[in-house]
Amino acid sequence: MNILVINCGSSSLKYQLIDSVTEQVMAKGLCERIRIDGRLKHVPSGRGPVELEAPMPDHTAAVELVLQMLTDPQYGVIGSLDEIGAVGHRIVHGGEKFASSTRITDEVIQAITECNDLAPLHNPANLIGIASCKKLMPQVPMVAVFDTAFHQTMPERAYLYGIPYEYYEKYKIRKYGFHGTSHSFVSKHTAELLGRDVKELRTIVCHLGNGASICAVQNGVSVDTSMGLTPLDGLVMGTRSGTIDPAVIEFIAQKEQRSLSDVMNILNKESGVAGVSGVSSDFRDLETAIDQGNARAKKAMDLFCYRVAQYIGSYTAVMNGVDAIAFTAGVGENNATARAGICQYLGYLGVKLDPERNRVRGEDAVISTDDSRIPVLVVPTNEELAIARETAALVQGQ
Ligand code: ADP
Repeated sequence: MNILVINCGSSSLKYQLIDSVTEQVMAKGLCERIRIDGRLKHVPSGRGPVELEAPMPDHTAAVELVLQMLTDPQYGVIGSLDEIGAVGHRIVHGGEKFASSTRITDEVIQAITECNDLAPLHNPANLIGIASCKKLMPQVPMVAVFDTAFHQTMPERAYLYGIPYEYYEKYKIRKYGFHGTSHSFVSKHTAELLGRDVKELRTIVCHLGNGASICAVQNGVSVDTSMGLTPLDGLVMGTRSGTIDPAVIEFIAQKEQRSLSDVMNILNKESGVAGVSGVSSDFRDLETAIDQGNARAKKAMDLFCYRVAQYIGSYTAVMNGVDAIAFTAGVGENNATARAGICQYLGYLGVKLDPERNRVRGEDAVISTDDSRIPVLVVPTNEELAIARETAALVQGQ
């Protein structure tokens, strides 16, 4: 069955058409500048990319264009839309309502809408993607795959905040966690690579991209994760501060005469390694600057690695040990300096990184030495494939 995976942002739409049997990507692409002007990059498998400017007054126009490209005689990969068996939508926030992926019905759309408050930038865009597909392909079954669902197994002591309990009761203020599709995929694949059963393994997954989070996966389920009510919490990220003393917010607001929303914007968009280094949110730029002797870039990298190592220590305690550590996402898969910087703190666990193996980029690999007490791996994430698998399984009633 061919599954169309849709990841709809406020002004962008990423897609992949995946054959669920062979798990091959038939085509993928990106629509950008939706509601501004409109730009499409479409990459049919085995052929060069097609780039074009086309008006996209709304998301429906973008989906329409994607469907045209997929069936285009020259650039397409399928003969007609009948060859799309199902659509899998990435949904950012499922609140406490969704602990797993689900077939999309009117009730499900309503329940996702009720989570809009928790992810005001993301969920409304995700819902527009659903509405557009429903309009253009009313007969095709659709599945919602949530970033938060995997973490619904966290125990109360991990997800409750130390604030008046009524705020949890009234507003559902708690830790939700994100990147769940990735943490689930990588923890399973780590177990496969080690020839172990995920249900018997304690794995710490470090999803280190522009947005970064870390997850303690015990016996196949998430028991704790570093992002919180929103994706601002936890690790120091590309532009996000991660965990800070909440009092800093009022302090900055007063000193700089800024509003609360201004300060939140600073913490989301002007902080992290970009804010500390003053160089860039991109770890490649950071590395170049470090090589050139830029001291603040080095501080940012040190801060990033230290915080990841702190979380690894914390999650080792939470699980009473750890059997494997996996690095994934842009930085985790590609940046040997960051991985080495993190692992330098893990000697107490008996972790020994192999510098030669650590040079790997973007492929499955064990990067620790053979006598490392705990294996450390690079395991590229593939959220689109995970969404396609979930979608196919639900549609085929497995
Ligand atoms: P997100 O999906 O959260 O936007 P990514 O997972 O794409 O982020 O990660 C982006 C980060 O990964 C950037 O800091 C970038 O430097 C790093 N990165 C991505 N690809 C590479 C690469 N091939 N080599 C080195 N670093 C990379």
